Amino acid sequence: MPVEPPVTTPRSLPEAYALLSSGAYRPIAGGTDLMVQITGELGEPPERVLDVWRLEELRGIQVEDDALVVGALSTYTEIRRSALVGEWLPALAQAAGTIGAAQIQNRGTLGGNIVNASPAGDTLPVLLAADASIIVGSARGEREVAAADFWTGYRETARAADELVVQVRFPLKPARTIRFRKVGTRRAQAISKVVLALAYREDGGVWRDVRVALGSVAATPVRVPETESVLEGAAPRATVADHAAAVIGREIKPIDDVRSTAEYRRAVTGRILHRLLREEGGW
Ligand SMILES: Cc1cc2nc3c(=O)[nH]c(=O)nc-3n(C[C@H](O)[C@H](O)[C@H](O)COP(=O)(O)OP(=O)(O)OC[C@H]3O[C@@H](n4cnc5c(N)ncnc54)[C@H](O)[C@@H]3O)c2cc1C
Repeated sequence: MPVEPPVTTPRSLPEAYALLSSGAYRPIAGGTDLMVQITGELGEPPERVLDVWRLEELRGIQVEDDALVVGALSTYTEIRRSALVGEWLPALAQAAGTIGAAQIQNRGTLGGNIVNASPAGDTLPVLLAADASIIVGSARGEREVAAADFWTGYRETARAADELVVQVRFPLKPARTIRFRKVGTRRAQAISKVVLALAYREDGGVWRDVRVALGSVAATPVRVPETESVLEGAAPRATVADHAAAVIGREIKPIDDVRSTAEYRRAVTGRILHRLLREEGGW
């Protein structure tokens, strides 16, 4: 019979940092991932839990110095309803709207999705495509980690055990279009078979600063540099989209699992990239 771990609730960020530096605490935010692990049936259950839900310092969504700054404790419902996210990063609101169902969206947080580090985490490709950076903090101070460097292996991150994710910064310059698409079994309560985010800006009739990021096709969320180089500097044409869709199918190395076959993932990834490019190109 699992024993419920003791829960400590700090009232300020310095108090939370002091507790984390003293030893084996696992933070809990919305609990939508951690509570699933608490029985010990899915790996080691936490020994002691640090409830960060009341830390105002981890909340809020604002625009600061040419970046959209989203607090780690922002729930999916808050992200979906945020006028700033709707204006500056609608792809993030769209990703939030595909997560679980209303119950999960009311409790699940962006910071939890980031630290849980599932390759199927739906917001993570948006962070990669947007060149976001993740601000982590501890008693030693704050540091900024590029999303591209954050997920270091299967469910592993660059976060140290005594660090909290504080906020995520999405640069707004250069201004780029970011698109998001998730393929799952259902519209709600579906873990993705493939999730894709595409970012680019149009410059003199060609695509620039192209990013293509994917979830559920590798051990971590990934970008696909070969596919990006097909699109970088290219004119939005059907032949370019055909080529990019063929390259991405070869570049990713998905696996067969309970949600999908590798073959399906490969085929559908090419299709959704092609469709997004077609929609953007307007042909
Ligand atoms: C029914 C159901 C459906 C779901 N559907 C989806 C889905 O469609 N797509 C998807 O991507 N996910 C899905 N999830 C997973 C989950 O809801 C998300 O990953 C969510 O974002 C986790 O956030 P949380 O606040 O609940 O994290 P928690 O469960 O509180 O924590 C998750 C992990 O992050 C750590 N953590 C949390 N916040 C911080 C912080 N600020 N700093 C440092 N560490 C932190 C915790 O220690 C823990 O390791 C689903 C879960 C359930 C139960």
